[in-house]
Amino acid sequence: MAAGSDTGVDTATGRLRLLVLQPTPFCNIDCSYCYLSNRGSAARMSLATLDLVCRRVFESPFLAGELEVAWHGGEPLTVPLAWYEEAAALIAARRPASLRLTHAFQTNGLLVNEDWARFFGRTGARVGLSIDGPADLHDAKRRTRRGRGTHAGAMRAVRLLQDQGVAFHVITVLTDRALDDPDRLFDFYVRHGISEVGFNIEEIEGANTASSLAGGNEAKYRDFIRRFFALVWRSPGVLKVREFESALGYLLSDEPVCDEQNEPFAIVSVSHAGDISTFSPELLGAHHPRFGDFAFGHIAGHALADVATAAPFRTVSREIRRGVDACRRDCRYFRWCGGGAPANKLFETGRFDTTETMHCRLTRQVVLDEVIAGMEAHMRPANMPDAYVGPA
Ligand code: SF4
Repeated sequence: MAAGSDTGVDTATGRLRLLVLQPTPFCNIDCSYCYLSNRGSAARMSLATLDLVCRRVFESPFLAGELEVAWHGGEPLTVPLAWYEEAAALIAARRPASLRLTHAFQTNGLLVNEDWARFFGRTGARVGLSIDGPADLHDAKRRTRRGRGTHAGAMRAVRLLQDQGVAFHVITVLTDRALDDPDRLFDFYVRHGISEVGFNIEEIEGANTASSLAGGNEAKYRDFIRRFFALVWRSPGVLKVREFESALGYLLSDEPVCDEQNEPFAIVSVSHAGDISTFSPELLGAHHPRFGDFAFGHIAGHALADVATAAPFRTVSREIRRGVDACRRDCRYFRWCGGGAPANKLFETGRFDTTETMHCRLTRQVVLDEVIAGMEAHMRPANMPDAYVGPA
């Protein structure tokens, strides 16, 4: 089956790398920048639904040789550990023997305990902790529904995972206030033995319709990235920053980057209720006046290859494709960016077939500029002038 070149779907190629499963939309805290509109719902994925997901995914022509299963889309640890024990066993029993499969959890850390740490260690799961830096920065946005800060609980998880020898990385959401003092943020990670961090930005996405980074903060963000790169560069081996590692990897290989969010079925997202989506995981559960929701099928009634022929999928896929084509034509960062994140294009501009967004300027353009400029500055002999003019 080929769904047609206008949607970019070729079922002959294994392309599915990331399966995002929403065990529950519920979150035990209430971050002010959260994009999820239904995070108060305590609904859960049943094991019967998970069983169907396994069948659909593992029989799919999109399946590649490796698959990461990311438990996300609410706070995953609000579902009991016993459920994940059964879920992991079910997935292990259903998966093709040749498939290399890893689990990943992104958690606010509040429910991490020794049992969870042992489970992460036993399953080799990748663990991401959401921590926005020192308490005043973190607690400004990451609060309980009663308005209490969550920093102390997240830091308990850091110590517990370290004590148990479980590797983890930190995801920090950068807000306007975080940009004020890069040295303080760097010191925070180093002081607490955090060796890997990824920077997200406060995004305009889904239920979050405003960002403290919008408007005139681009220069401030650029200064932050420049200084943070200098701090990382001067302390080799101390802190890995996901964005710098990606940019350096791109520069060293010069291979064009393909953003999997633009590739149909490279990422498949399944809601707790069995709704199937693809492209940006943030589209799952989102609503838009032009498209309605982004559930392109249901696990009970549709194989993944069927979803590729469904009219709503084809409409979205075509518009995303036009956006990528426009980026390829108009943007000098395209080889590094791959055409941006569809969800950010939609929620910032109202369309998928657009190009530049705040998200891509900050997370793509500024990062690449500053990594190149930083390398040139730190590697250049003292008497050589600054020659950097940006990517070709
Ligand atoms: S940086 Fe922005 S405009 Fe350029 S290719 Fe990426 S998404 Fe498109």
